[in-house]
Amino acid sequence: MSLEIKLSYPSRKRALIRKNILDWYDVKGRDSLPWKGKDIYKIWISEVMLQQTQVQSVIPYYKMFMDKYPNIESLFKASLDDIMKIWSGLGFYRRAENIYKASIRIQQEFNQEFPKNYNDVLSLPGIGRTTASAIITFSGNGRYSILDGNVKRFLSRFLSVEMHHSQLNNLWELSQYLLSDTRPSDFIQAYMDIGSLICKKSKPLCDECPVNQQCNSYPYTPLNIPKKTKKIKVIEKNIWSLVIVNNEGQFYLEKISYDNLWRGLYSSPVFHNKSDLMSWTESHKIEECVESNIWKFTHKLSHIKFTFNTILCNIKYHKKVSLSDDNWYNLSDIDFGIPKYQDKIFNQYKSIYGYN
Ligand code: SF4
Repeated sequence: MSLEIKLSYPSRKRALIRKNILDWYDVKGRDSLPWKGKDIYKIWISEVMLQQTQVQSVIPYYKMFMDKYPNIESLFKASLDDIMKIWSGLGFYRRAENIYKASIRIQQEFNQEFPKNYNDVLSLPGIGRTTASAIITFSGNGRYSILDGNVKRFLSRFLSVEMHHSQLNNLWELSQYLLSDTRPSDFIQAYMDIGSLICKKSKPLCDECPVNQQCNSYPYTPLNIPKKTKKIKVIEKNIWSLVIVNNEGQFYLEKISYDNLWRGLYSSPVFHNKSDLMSWTESHKIEECVESNIWKFTHKLSHIKFTFNTILCNIKYHKKVSLSDDNWYNLSDIDFGIPKYQDKIFNQYKSIYGYN
């Protein structure tokens, strides 16, 4: 622990900060979240879902996940496609892949039990320092503090330092130094709650803050309040999508293996331009089946607006087609993850052509 932090927060002051934070948490903290408890498996899944995603968006996905895989033994039976299906719509699909990879390692290296040692947890795919600390501390297997985005903002304002990577070590030290000895699990939840509910990004509620009397920023305007930023520039992208349907009303879908955004999900073939799409139809001997109609629709992510140009390809009794027999699916049989844009494609198809 650095001398500077120790000198700034002598034990009596530290005890007061701890008490104020826990007293606030006992009255205002979020203690009704569905993953609350000591089950390390449930904490792991919730913490991975909460990476880069807000609590309210996570709750329904977490509940679906637990309905299907209530414990680690049930997860061992899941394929990557099964996990992707539940994750469909939550985004950042790499996290689902990491859960799958971690479940394999847990079976092979940890005797089928989720590890309870900090370094073992940290060694699993998709788990960084804050996630490992939360898993170990919430499950009652250790006393490790956290520094996610909200806590980083709260503690940097508390210290009145710029939220800059040069301060990271100091912030980690402070986070661990203030951590309660007796109630570490409640304390890290309180850190998260104060960071997201009180010490908010643009309008911190300093007058309601339980540690405003110890905060170096109070009563002045804290550093690290984002200035009115220019609107984030939305990138526009064109995508060409080929919707291939056979005479039995089945759709041709491929597993996406190359794209970071949707990797692991299933989709109609997509291309960056029309000429790539046409070359693909020629190489698969289906160019005669391509219909001239194009439907357009847009699909927005936070800073990318995709325009999908969707071309229909009706394959009816066409002998020479060179497409794998394994990739045809009835809509009712789709039992794997698909991107949201693919849902829009199916809905548009159904509204134009009908589908039973
Ligand atoms: S007093 Fe204001 S700036 Fe300081 S920690 Fe509390 S909410 Fe954040």
